[in-house]
Amino acid sequence: MKYASFKTPDGRESYGIVDGDRVIDLGASRPQLPTLKDFMASAEFGKAANGKELKFADVKLLPVIPNPGKIICVGLNYQDHVKEMNRPDSEKPVLFMRGANSQMAHGDPLVRAKVTEKLDYEGELAVIIGKPGRYISKADALKHVGGYAPYNDGTMRDWQRHTHHWTPGKNFDNTGAFGPWMVTADALGDRATTFLTTRVNGEQMQRASLAQMIFSVEELIEYISGFTTLQTGDVIVTGTPGGVGDRRTPPLYLVAGDKVEIEIDGVGLLQNTVVQEA
Ligand code: MG
Repeated sequence: MKYASFKTPDGRESYGIVDGDRVIDLGASRPQLPTLKDFMASAEFGKAANGKELKFADVKLLPVIPNPGKIICVGLNYQDHVKEMNRPDSEKPVLFMRGANSQMAHGDPLVRAKVTEKLDYEGELAVIIGKPGRYISKADALKHVGGYAPYNDGTMRDWQRHTHHWTPGKNFDNTGAFGPWMVTADALGDRATTFLTTRVNGEQMQRASLAQMIFSVEELIEYISGFTTLQTGDVIVTGTPGGVGDRRTPPLYLVAGDKVEIEIDGVGLLQNTVVQEA
């Protein structure tokens, strides 16, 4: 089952079930559950539901979760990316945070701000927490996953390297693409045969199976919930494989007009085009 957040043709923010070229608008009749995050905490999540039917083409998508309580990103979680960045192996996951207002939807412009020369893509799997918890064990971790979505952890490499903390380079407005929708946890196939692929202008830049993560989804949930309560709607962005533009020869930084696609088998295809800030 697929869920998306969107604006309706009359400008109302809502969410619903995506079914082919239709969307069932669940938010319209559930004022007590105004956002997808609220709906995920309800007993209706994951079940067939009635609502007003809209055409998918008529809604304006929003980031899958427009208002997460927190977005925790994982750095250096694929071995080929650790190597290309010349980083040592780490015994614990490398984590940093992104603010919700750095996010945008599938189809929105990926903005190359006027103060950066080094906008780069990072194709990633986003895990959306469905059930809150603290001190979650690896064995129980997947019970806390509500769904999965493609994510582009768009990065300003110059701003990432101003100091040894990455926050500025990872938080520019309109650089964290999240969508087009999430699939419920049951829809993700065997991770060994589920591939994440990033393309720029149709050319493949990154490709890895989800089983190549150094710290698995289960290990990440166990570690993160060891220091913070994971809440419904929180997002864990699980790291990018090798092949980022910054490490290519010659380097490939994104410029206006570049089309970035991040596809995860059985999950979805996220597409954004780069626009230069005036
Ligand atoms: Mg990343």
